[in-house]
Amino acid sequence: MPNTNRSGLKIKFLGANRQITGSCTLVEADGLSLIVDCGLFQEREFLSRNWGPFSFDPERVDFVLLTHAHLDHCGLLPKLVREGFRGRILATEVTRDLLPIVLEDSAHIQEEDAAYKKKRHAREGRKGPHPEVPLYTVRDARLVPPHVDGIAYRRPLSLSDRVEVVFHDAGHILGSAMIEIRLKDGERVKQLLFSGDVGQWDKPIVKDPAVFERLDTLVLESTYGGVNREDPGRRDDMLQELITRTVKAGGNVLIPTFALERAQEVLYTLSLLFAEQRLPDVPVYLDSPMAVEVTRVFENHVDSMDRQARALFRSGNHPFRFPALHLIGSTEESKSLNRLERPFVVLAGSGMCTGGRIKHHLQRNISRPESLVLFVGYQARGTLGRQILEGKSPVRIHGRNHPLRARVAQLHGFSAHAGAQDMMRWLRHIRNEPRVFLNHGEEDRAAELAAAIEREFGWPVQVSFYEEEIELNGGPAPRPAG
Ligand SMILES: [Zn+2]
Ligand SMILES: [Zn+2]
Repeated sequence: MPNTNRSGLKIKFLGANRQITGSCTLVEADGLSLIVDCGLFQEREFLSRNWGPFSFDPERVDFVLLTHAHLDHCGLLPKLVREGFRGRILATEVTRDLLPIVLEDSAHIQEEDAAYKKKRHAREGRKGPHPEVPLYTVRDARLVPPHVDGIAYRRPLSLSDRVEVVFHDAGHILGSAMIEIRLKDGERVKQLLFSGDVGQWDKPIVKDPAVFERLDTLVLESTYGGVNREDPGRRDDMLQELITRTVKAGGNVLIPTFALERAQEVLYTLSLLFAEQRLPDVPVYLDSPMAVEVTRVFENHVDSMDRQARALFRSGNHPFRFPALHLIGSTEESKSLNRLERPFVVLAGSGMCTGGRIKHHLQRNISRPESLVLFVGYQARGTLGRQILEGKSPVRIHGRNHPLRARVAQLHGFSAHAGAQDMMRWLRHIRNEPRVFLNHGEEDRAAELAAAIEREFGWPVQVSFYEEEIELNGGPAPRPAG
């Protein structure tokens, strides 16, 4: 039977619409069924979407195109494979190597959550909104890697006679990609770009984002929206000043970090500061077994790093192994840190303080005026991190209230996302008039970016809705209203 939609191009938004987690977009191109990302929903009000059925048939998806290894982009892959996906998952080689670490860690958390829920419900004699079984298990997570093909940046890969994909640098985390889908339409080639998460220029370790001169359709993230995340000084100077001041006061420096990328970037900068003797004699603890594993993957992919990082590795000044750095494995070791008589710097997860070892360190330090909580990443609505950042006291940790007396600071220079100015700078390379859809941003942030794009370029921009379906078969794009 002939497929009537053979030359068609259609997208359907299935996550990270008017919020920032659960990234997933279905693309129907030339009879192929593709999904770009398959992320976990992490904001409380959307968690139930993780449990519902996919709004497509996993068995009929031909390819997953994966932008990067953050959970909000890859965290539902174990469920996808368990529910019948038989196709290939295309990702960069770094992402392919990070994926097993990230997914197994997530599966562990899912299993622990389910066990905890079961215990609590038994105690309280009730049933919760979600089943007491894990969303997926470690065994499910291990089904994913055999489906993954690591592919090179900038090399077009044919998925059918008329569809090819190209992965480009996104500058967000090591291995991250913007994904270009090219559909041959007679003489013309339609170019559809998924930005994934866009990084900032001149970040440590990762290369700068790729730029484009021509696009027909752009699905663009909007995490920062119209907000700039300018720091009042240079990233390294500020880190030096904050650590020196805290150590002098006899306090500890707590850096909540995601195990993937942010931790390595902070270590990288610390190693340079120590090498230049700009820091006092203070031990640094990487208190995250997962961050230690991720760091090993990074060490295997020096070629994917920017010029400065490659040079550093070549010169033998290993940026992830400096004398002051200690790697913490067991929970016992982690707890023993709190018995130290001298100031220390600790990097621990989770990055938004929603769980993990950072909560124990916070418990011990949040009421000490000499200690510092130093945020190096975005803090989403409703997280403990956001609450501390906004200075809301008391702070509730592990069921107890603690007055917030520690100093709190934020360094935007480590953020993995482009701020408004970076985003406009990136968009200015585009010479034609693409149709733009915004995703991966809270509603007001996305609206700010949409307004800025319409003002400067006059391009048609839509802030995408969950489950919204768009036909991209030629024809003029709707003009922006007003
Ligand atoms: Zn990301
Ligand atoms: Zn993301």
